[in-house]
Amino acid sequence: MRLDQFLSARTMYSRRELRQMIQKGKVTVDGAVVRKADQAVQPEAHTVCLNGREICGDQYLYVLLHKPKGYVSSADEAGQKSVLELVPPELCRKDLRPVGRLDKDSTGMLLLTDDGQLAHQVIAARGHVAKYYHIVLARPWEDGYLQPLEQGITLADGAQCLPAKAAPVPDTDREALICLHEGKYHQVRRMFAALGNHVSELARVAMGGLLLPPELPLGACCVLSEKDVQKLL
Ligand code: URA
Repeated sequence: MRLDQFLSARTMYSRRELRQMIQKGKVTVDGAVVRKADQAVQPEAHTVCLNGREICGDQYLYVLLHKPKGYVSSADEAGQKSVLELVPPELCRKDLRPVGRLDKDSTGMLLLTDDGQLAHQVIAARGHVAKYYHIVLARPWEDGYLQPLEQGITLADGAQCLPAKAAPVPDTDREALICLHEGKYHQVRRMFAALGNHVSELARVAMGGLLLPPELPLGACCVLSEKDVQKLL
């Protein structure tokens, strides 16, 4: 594969911009500056760096972001800060998109990928991957929530939720873990509103069998391995 082709598929830049960067000596292959856009590279065999940052050679990229509050999950909402701004430049690809959404005020695990098929598998209505949320309620947890949650809550607008599992966090009176197999707009917040409570804090802590790495700071990203991606499904 040509060097400019490799970079075009794995960065945000156009072929033209990349050719200019290559000519200016901003690209190295296995540590040596390369000024020819048509230099042959093998993604699995060569280490390509742009502006000193290594570019992941894999065909698809799976990024896990520990989303902080204040960022929207969409790419282009006018006047809003997008989660894409938190992805370091060497990981930003043209087709990198969040898989599903977390509200602006929610925190936690957000997957971003350019693999459309995997994204579909994670959010498809059938076999929707389980999502686990840690919530803090404004008023104390009540065990009476369990039965309606397990039967499926009817939201204020009449929308019917699938059965959900929840459990209070021991030794707390306002914290709980909840597991959903679907992703309606503001779903957890609207479910607890329907139960007469209010969600003050919401963090996604796991998806499928993949946990939010405890050492990943708020606002930081890590690249998932193939093995991690399999844990999602
Ligand atoms: N449910 C919500 O209400 N908000 C989220 O961000 C995710 C699930």
